[in-house]
Amino acid sequence: MFRDVFLLLARESGTTVKVGRTFGHPEEEILEIHSCAMAFEDIPKKDWYSILGAGPSDSLTELKRKYQRLILLYHPDKQSTDVPAGEAEARMQRFIEIDRAWKILGNEERKKEYDLQRREYELEQGWPVDTQVSFEDMTWNHNDHCYSFTCRCGGKYRVSKNEVEDVSLVSCDTCSLLIEII
Ligand SMILES: [Zn+2]
Repeated sequence: MFRDVFLLLARESGTTVKVGRTFGHPEEEILEIHSCAMAFEDIPKKDWYSILGAGPSDSLTELKRKYQRLILLYHPDKQSTDVPAGEAEARMQRFIEIDRAWKILGNEERKKEYDLQRREYELEQGWPVDTQVSFEDMTWNHNDHCYSFTCRCGGKYRVSKNEVEDVSLVSCDTCSLLIEII
């Protein structure tokens, strides 16, 4: 039944699913999801970071660790068979979202694009821009290869080296404030 619900949801979300061998090594990925036609237009409305229980300041390693933990937890083959149908469906939906979140955040290009869209979206939502900052006001961190600036909440604004050219708004890793890079 899990497989059926999964396939149904996958069809609805425009995701094609390849079902592989289901015996042998239970730890291996059984289902491969190929979401070629990803709906980029709905991206700003989804917080892919929070779907992974992560934040924009998490490193790729950290994101991957969180993704791997969740994808195993919600994997269709890991579910007990006596879960009510509604709960099973919710878990499948979660599994698909986790997979999509990683397809975006685990890919450098897509993550960059998403981060930019996210910042623009936050600005449109009227999230408060706290102050304008230039890179000269920020601290260069050799170890992380990023610029940082301390928010008045005590949190940090971070801009990695390869974001420098594109970034205009940066959100605090702790509160909802933004700074504008000038
Ligand atoms: Zn803050």
